[in-house]
Amino acid sequence: MPDIIQLLPDVVANQIAAGEVIQRPASALKELMENAIDAGSTQVKVIIREAGRSLIQVIDNGCGMSETDARMSFERYATSKIRKADDLYAIRTMGFRGEALASIAAIAHVELKTKRIEDETGVQLVIEGAELISCLPVACNTGTSIAIKNLFFNVPARRNFLKSNAAEMRYIMEEFQRVALSHPETEFSMFHNDTEVFNLRTGNFRQRIAGVFGSSYNEKLVPVEEDTSLINIRGYVGKPAFAKKSRGEQYFFVNRRFIKDPYLHHAVVNAFEDLLPPSTYPSYFLLLEIEPAKIDINIHPTKTEIKFEDDKSAYAILRASVKRALGRFSVSPTLDFEQETSFNLPLSQLSQFPVPPRIQVNPSFNPFKTETEIRFPAGSRQIIPSSLNKGQDWSEIYKGLDQAGLEATSKDQSGLQLPEPDDLDWIQSASCFQLALKYIVLPYRDKLLVINQQSAHEKVLYEKNLEAISRQPISAQKLVFPKTIELGPHEFNLVMEMKNELNSLGFDMGEFGKNTFVIHGIPPQVKEEEIKQTLEMLAEQYEYPGQQITVGKSEKIARLLASRQSLKPGKIMQVPEIKSLVTALFKCRIPESSPTGKQVFWFFTLDELDQKFS
Ligand code: ADP
Ligand code: MG
Repeated sequence: MPDIIQLLPDVVANQIAAGEVIQRPASALKELMENAIDAGSTQVKVIIREAGRSLIQVIDNGCGMSETDARMSFERYATSKIRKADDLYAIRTMGFRGEALASIAAIAHVELKTKRIEDETGVQLVIEGAELISCLPVACNTGTSIAIKNLFFNVPARRNFLKSNAAEMRYIMEEFQRVALSHPETEFSMFHNDTEVFNLRTGNFRQRIAGVFGSSYNEKLVPVEEDTSLINIRGYVGKPAFAKKSRGEQYFFVNRRFIKDPYLHHAVVNAFEDLLPPSTYPSYFLLLEIEPAKIDINIHPTKTEIKFEDDKSAYAILRASVKRALGRFSVSPTLDFEQETSFNLPLSQLSQFPVPPRIQVNPSFNPFKTETEIRFPAGSRQIIPSSLNKGQDWSEIYKGLDQAGLEATSKDQSGLQLPEPDDLDWIQSASCFQLALKYIVLPYRDKLLVINQQSAHEKVLYEKNLEAISRQPISAQKLVFPKTIELGPHEFNLVMEMKNELNSLGFDMGEFGKNTFVIHGIPPQVKEEEIKQTLEMLAEQYEYPGQQITVGKSEKIARLLASRQSLKPGKIMQVPEIKSLVTALFKCRIPESSPTGKQVFWFFTLDELDQKFS
């Protein structure tokens, strides 16, 4: 047999990379704004048209590029920010992977104009789907302007699954705010369809927060300030009295980079202790500075997750400093300052040379998945109408199910419009049935909707589990008699690693001597007689995720448990159960793809049906 393996052409490789880095117009904007920051700009102007579908333009007054650099910048792995592997441990720039422009150019029409201060004329490049169309001298200001038009013009699947303009615009504003918040010394403006959306003057962090969220924020903030040998913290937490019913503004920046970190989030919430009114969320805007060698930011293509070498200390310091801040402003009752004033690491540890973080590659990267980013924007509510909670154990499935981030999507002519999460009444009046005990079939408008029942349930549970890990732990179903479970030493260690997350997901377990857990409670849908089996399965798949997508630890655990809990083919479902599931599915942030990247449903249009009969 002849050899069959070939290297992918660059164009294809770039398109695959784009799948990871550029999920939607907002991701492209983030990359461009970060490049403008890295170029040392003091002014950054953003121009958006049609929520980024037709134009995303970023104009900066940074260092600009030479003609050669301008051409090079669209090559994959072309970067001016690192040169050798060691540089990865000293990253101070926003970018370093050298793949953003190459990815964007592979899936859009790009026009770049750039000029360095020492050059008299600049250069203009036009690139369409990775192909250089023209490269000409041009008169322009010092700095760079990049315009991205027709994003995803050659990736219809992506384009069709974009949400409404209103929803995409919200993602765009969110990315804009993240970059603008952590760079208050830079002036930012943003225009959408010629209307000015933001105009942010330079100032300090507090002024920037007020600029982004409104001047009323000024009186709502309590400063946090802490310098330790491991980490410096600056920023603000919202006074408890102003905590929001929906999720507040919650921002962590590590070395000026916005990151998502459920663990650190927990530290902050924990510091508020009983200060928060029930079911409210605190706001926080925290800038963490840490030596780059002590974190690894290269664990996710979009660089929104990091790994701390010493996350336990980071947690402790963060929690203590927020607590102290709240105490200092006498909004916190009794505080034990004695225990919390000394954060500095023991001298013995200070003298140790920091161990470079291990570079993690994602061994199970799936270029065809449509979802890598999990976000929790404002909004949280009970999504199952109480009238549906009739089914016995079915209602359990959705007990306390809070759905994060429902987008108020509106009508949109381009591509396929998904059912609106806010308008799912049609499900109640639709007739629906199970096919072969594994598919759910029902009409949606003039289309036939066929849903994979297991994938759908998995998706619903996955989002619920993620939410549980990061914000709202699921309460365990108490066992009448606690159970002790002994595992092999290796499995025991793996489960120990997941223990915090599992406890948020409805397990109530503690250690009980050697390799043994004592289980006081279990999550819904996990059977008492299957606890051991479930833990063993979790340990095994945690270690060897196989072909599955691996994102962060939380995502992984949320996915593994969801897959364990989900309805399997062969399960008979009553009509109300079916309707609950379909409703919950379309309330999901990204209903169309399962946590493992499988298509959850298909629409069959009238045209397709007509064709069959023609
Ligand atoms: P990265 O930011 O990871 O280096 P990118 O693909 O985003 O990779 O950009 C590639 C290179 O192009 C950057 O390293 C930088 O040298 C150059 N570049 C991109 N945008 C700008 C800009 N706005 N101003 C100056 N140089 C830029
Ligand atoms: Mg970049």
